[in-house]
Amino acid sequence: MGLADLHIHTIYSDGSATVEEVLRKAVSLGLDTIAITDHNEIEGAVKARELALSWNLGVEVIVGEEITTADGHVVGLFLKDRIRPLLSAEATVDEIHRQGGLAVAVHPFSLWLKLFRCGGVGKLADRLQFDAIETINGSPTEGLGNILAGRFNRGKKLAGVGGSDAHTAEAVGQGVTIFPGRGPAMVFEAIRNKAVIAKTGRSALRAMVDFVYQHLMGRMALYGPKGGGLDQPVIN
Ligand SMILES: [Zn+2]
Ligand SMILES: [Zn+2]
Repeated sequence: MGLADLHIHTIYSDGSATVEEVLRKAVSLGLDTIAITDHNEIEGAVKARELALSWNLGVEVIVGEEITTADGHVVGLFLKDRIRPLLSAEATVDEIHRQGGLAVAVHPFSLWLKLFRCGGVGKLADRLQFDAIETINGSPTEGLGNILAGRFNRGKKLAGVGGSDAHTAEAVGQGVTIFPGRGPAMVFEAIRNKAVIAKTGRSALRAMVDFVYQHLMGRMALYGPKGGGLDQPVIN
């Protein structure tokens, strides 16, 4: 079985971890696949994929992006090009598919993130052509949101995936997706076939302590211009 964390931020958006730190942490956890999903940006993901290949680390990288849509956050996986923010969720999902990627409704029912105008798409998760719903988001605030997402997807209409939503290296692996095989191509197949299982990580407390520390040290620009908030996404 493969182990993937499909939702990770780096310093290319509002995370505190460099691409190198994320890769090292992923290797130490035995993850074979990670998706780098910075807010409205794919540069870090592209760099991570190149580094992972040239270092031959045993972990492979999916180029992803967490796009701030007019209807909430949407993650695109297996992207070729950056998708600009503030399109409708529907247009964003269409663009992800046009690039041959997969669309994930991340933290669809997060109450906390919604306060910061960083919420998910809610019930659009099954009205639009999403390929997956994030039923496990590893953020310390997402306990209730995860329960609501799991309930919403009870009939398994969509593939239920897990990701850490890590904004620090320590938090990588706090949410994972288990799938048959190893590597990005098998993740793609498994999501298409709904053959995935979402799981939470173990050291949630340590991850939370690190999160607060990194935030207090000013290493994260959470909810700021690079944080994917609806009111101030980065538009280049
Ligand atoms: Zn988000
Ligand atoms: Zn995120």
